[in-house]
Amino acid sequence: MLHYKCLNKHEMSFISIEQYELTNKRILLREDFNVPIVNGKITDLTRIKAALPTIEYLIAKKAKIGIISHLGRPKNYSFDNNFSLGNICDALSKLLNLPVKLIPNDFNTPLSSEYISIFENIRFLKGETNNDEALAKKMAAACDIFIMDAFGCSHRAHASTNGIAKFVPIAIAGPLLKKEINSIKKFISTPKRPILAIIGGAKISSKLPLLTKLIKSVDKLIIGGGMANTCLKAMEMEIGKSLYESDTVTSAKTLLETNKEKILLPIDAVVSKNLNENHDVRTIALTEMQPDDIIGDIGTNTIKSYNEAIQNAGTIIWNGPVGIFEMETFENGTKEIALAIANSNGYSIAGGGDTISAINKFAVTQKISYISTGGGAFLALLQNKELPGVTYLATSAQSAT
Ligand code: ADP
Ligand code: MG
Repeated sequence: MLHYKCLNKHEMSFISIEQYELTNKRILLREDFNVPIVNGKITDLTRIKAALPTIEYLIAKKAKIGIISHLGRPKNYSFDNNFSLGNICDALSKLLNLPVKLIPNDFNTPLSSEYISIFENIRFLKGETNNDEALAKKMAAACDIFIMDAFGCSHRAHASTNGIAKFVPIAIAGPLLKKEINSIKKFISTPKRPILAIIGGAKISSKLPLLTKLIKSVDKLIIGGGMANTCLKAMEMEIGKSLYESDTVTSAKTLLETNKEKILLPIDAVVSKNLNENHDVRTIALTEMQPDDIIGDIGTNTIKSYNEAIQNAGTIIWNGPVGIFEMETFENGTKEIALAIANSNGYSIAGGGDTISAINKFAVTQKISYISTGGGAFLALLQNKELPGVTYLATSAQSAT
């Protein structure tokens, strides 16, 4: 049952930022500004906009604000302009109508209440993803209060989401984090059946383990995108040169074998020989795949079968586009799924950076019942996993029910 019986930290109530004196205090604010960027341009501002109420509250209190975030997955822990938080400063400055400065992530630059400081991408430092104690302590020493507001990263035990909170005098849950956790908790406490989950996207290795538990709580699971390719590979079907992860094939096989009746997989696909040149784009049955074909989207018959499941669902959970929706050639599957969810009578809850971007692109934002800024965190919370990002945040100890 997708019944939220919470016996961990989420059950306690976080102490609100309103209960602390913030004026002139050095605040490190962890936000999730991991927004989609194409050719240096932000294509979706949702995650930044979601953080505005928190930032505006701190500004009104005249706090000295330093924002920590990551952006993308930079390789080798070194500077890469494509992943610089400099890409975010302008957008945030415009939204706040205040100066926003990019500062080094050595945590030596003093913070000011005259402007907002953003530290350079925290994932340029090796210690971040390792949850390195020295880095956590260095960050902690740079502030009086740490506010964890990055719901989208709260499923990660990283130095800026988990480690830092152990060493600061005060670590509090931000308003966005609180809102997300409370809304999702509320939703899963009384879901309308049948429950359908649609999981797609590219982060196969991080999402697949979550499916093993999620599938127990849902009545049907649709798999699309790169995740579906891995499943097809596990069924020993030809997937040509499509995206998949060899390390996850075995766990995909187990998932499929133990949950045959619940899982819906693609039956046809939009393929091409070369994604960039849209060379020889065809819609074919999966049995017709050639070794040099690349799957970019689900095909029309798959859309039909997925739509039927959506129409029959009482609750729809969606994370991950079912195709490379950023490209016109491969957008149709995700578009049709988004429209079907929007027009269904079921309660719909969606999350994930790229999923939000797709929801906005296909203009269905108003017709989704709840949109979460988190992807992996959203999936983790749906199955009642402890979020490492909340472990050390201040709570008023309430007894568990
Ligand atoms: P979210 O951010 O919503 O959690 P992910 O980051 O997991 O979603 O995945 C989003 C990405 O998955 C998109 O950039 C999309 O292009 C990609 N994707 C979807 N289907 C495919 C596919 N068949 N092949 C390659 N990439 C895909
Ligand atoms: Mg993404």
